[in-house]
Amino acid sequence: MDGTLQYLSGTLYLVATPIGNLEDLTLRALRVLRDDAAVIACEDTRQTQKLLEHYEIRKPLLSYHEHNEASRTAEILKRLAEGESVALVSDAGTPLISDPGYRVVTEAAARGVKVVPIPGPSAAMTALVASGLPTDEFRFIGFLPPKSAARRRRLETLKDETATVVLYESPHRIVDALADMAEILGERPMVLARELTKIYEEFLRGTPDEIRKALAGRGTVKGEITLVIGGAGEVVQSGDPAAEVARLKGEGVDPMEAIKRVAKQMGLPKREVYRLAMAEGSNPPDTRQDTARKDR
Ligand code: SAM
Repeated sequence: MDGTLQYLSGTLYLVATPIGNLEDLTLRALRVLRDDAAVIACEDTRQTQKLLEHYEIRKPLLSYHEHNEASRTAEILKRLAEGESVALVSDAGTPLISDPGYRVVTEAAARGVKVVPIPGPSAAMTALVASGLPTDEFRFIGFLPPKSAARRRRLETLKDETATVVLYESPHRIVDALADMAEILGERPMVLARELTKIYEEFLRGTPDEIRKALAGRGTVKGEITLVIGGAGEVVQSGDPAAEVARLKGEGVDPMEAIKRVAKQMGLPKREVYRLAMAEGSNPPDTRQDTARKDR
């Protein structure tokens, strides 16, 4: 790579912006937008202007979206080559994540331009961490195809995916998409995260069919939606700790292990799960026996 070019050219900053709550702009993002960037490349100038007005930032804007990506990429590269720094933002969240930017980043990197990511909100990560579903391995697939036939084909490819799947879906298509998921993916634990970081933030937890019924009962569905789907083989939790302990024991899981697992999954103290299991008469484990076994 040509270090001289890096030194002479401006920097391309990739700046994550809030996904709803305007307080979710990092101090570093604020500094880059306010001080370091000569120009801000954005999807929708009106949308970005609102954010800038909130923070009293005055900066020239350059529209960059899927329809003018080619010509704007050339313009941004020219500015960078002339020593101007450019901040790329999207309407919300992290640029390039189901948003424009891939082309300019690829070409800037190929030319040895310094590319600096300024991390911050992304709906996918925000939904995943609050889902309660496994986070050790996950797959982000962006949006599902809008038409049912293509969507169903895509869902078929996810049937055997054991990692947690995170995807974006429009409120207009969500009920139909959930019906397809119920049919193709079956009884999976799922979390629908709606309006993250906003006043009406909501998490619906259940199987695809349970969530579909809950939404269908509301009439129209509004707001922005991210779905988190448990991987193949991920067991649907009943939400009732005692019933869950009983279910695991029925599957042959050691009683103390069942309590431990349920406590971990539901974020409850082990003692509390034990107490609930006792109260429900789910035949809790004989802890003396368990201790004895450990001692052997
Ligand atoms: N680049 C963005 C990011 O990093 O989050 C995502 C852009 S994508 C075009 C927009 C989609 O993200 C929405 O249709 C919705 O599925 C999801 N999304 C964005 N904001 C959200 C929010 N506040 N709550 C839930 N989902 C959201």
